[in-house]
Amino acid sequence: MSELLADIRSFISERALPLERAFLSRPFNELEPELNALRSEVKRLGLWAPHLSAELGGRGLSLTEFAHVSAVLGETPIGHYLFNAQAPDIGNCELLHAHGSAEQKAKWLEPLARGEIRSCFAMTEPEFAGSNPVWMATSARRDGDDYVIDGHKWFTSSADGAAFTIVMAVTASDAKPHERASQIIVPMNAPGLARVRNISVMGDEGSGYASHSELRFTGVRVPVANRIGAEGAGFALAQERLGPGRIHHCMRWIGICERAFRLMCERAATRELSPGHLLGEQQAVQHWIAESRAEIDAARLLVLDTAAQIESRGAHDARDRISLIKFHVAGVLQRVLDRALQTYGSLGMTDDTPLAWWYRHERGARIYDGPDEVHKSAVARRILKGFGLNSK
Ligand SMILES: Cc1cc2nc3c(=O)[nH]c(=O)nc-3n(C[C@H](O)[C@H](O)[C@H](O)COP(=O)(O)OP(=O)(O)OC[C@H]3O[C@@H](n4cnc5c(N)ncnc54)[C@H](O)[C@@H]3O)c2cc1C
Repeated sequence: MSELLADIRSFISERALPLERAFLSRPFNELEPELNALRSEVKRLGLWAPHLSAELGGRGLSLTEFAHVSAVLGETPIGHYLFNAQAPDIGNCELLHAHGSAEQKAKWLEPLARGEIRSCFAMTEPEFAGSNPVWMATSARRDGDDYVIDGHKWFTSSADGAAFTIVMAVTASDAKPHERASQIIVPMNAPGLARVRNISVMGDEGSGYASHSELRFTGVRVPVANRIGAEGAGFALAQERLGPGRIHHCMRWIGICERAFRLMCERAATRELSPGHLLGEQQAVQHWIAESRAEIDAARLLVLDTAAQIESRGAHDARDRISLIKFHVAGVLQRVLDRALQTYGSLGMTDDTPLAWWYRHERGARIYDGPDEVHKSAVARRILKGFGLNSK
């Protein structure tokens, strides 16, 4: 494992970082050929998709092992993509691997694992609070051997250029709330599926993998065989993908923190405020550095411990910890990025370092994957239950 991590680290610093500057200043679609050339190199080196099983071309790493890898890949915005370990494909791969039919695996999972196609996950709707995952209007009505899907989704990450989406749609509106929806594979070129736009996020529409789309489904017809798992199991499957998914996200955030921390220290140690007087001699900056170091180390240990709990006791038993790391690490990420950016002054606001890109695009960390407030309330309610307070 330590050899694998060392190889991945070398690739990131020697091959990925030189392309990072271009990624920060050019549209993703324009840079794709160069990124794909590096992806081929990753494959040749035997480092491809290390989280996937050997039969799918990966290294079969455990959740905890991959957590370490994810932190290294997170040190550059292109790291996960170069190793085919990027969200949402990684979650879709896991879902199809665990619950896909043989036909779904051959048609969608295998090319996804080989990096020949990309995918996306369409759950959130503009008209409904995404923080309430059982409340949505997109419907999939049975018509013979088909589903006919109608609905409106947005913030579907990486839909631009994806070959298929997994859509969450209501298949039984009169069932219990958690059994109403199903997850259904829809090819992005299915008649009636329109990618309305790439949503401008903090002033950037992005393109290709690096974008979030609004989608409209109007009478989209797909075979019933495209449903993943049982009818009505959509919510349960979504919950299942969240446990490991959160470890991946949190360790990616820790990777971002480590890079931001290094950049902050490099700047503090070299920027002169006046001849011979360095920024890092200021107590304010020293405190930012010490606080950041403590917060990143503590966050890393909390996430790794949670990964170990998921592996030993299952995601359901570890659900409090999974909620704790979500909001805790998202907060650490925001604070560390903010301090690093402040240390760089006006240079921090430019795209000459990755700090501003992360500052814009990772603000969402406190919103996606369940807003922080929802996780805090869920954990607190369960804690208070132990003290006799039963609230909804
Ligand atoms: C960068 C990014 C990428 C995303 N990618 C995807 C994707 O690929 N696929 C997909 O389907 N969705 C995606 N989303 C959508 C994301 O899942 C939703 O934004 C999220 O679930 C919150 O839903 P909402 O935006 O409708 O906010 P709302 O539900 O309207 O909530 C708004 C705010 O209200 C507060 N709030 C909500 N509930 C509570 C509560 N119970 N207690 C206290 N406060 C509360 C929170 O502060 C929250 O931020 C993405 C979002 C972002 C920002």
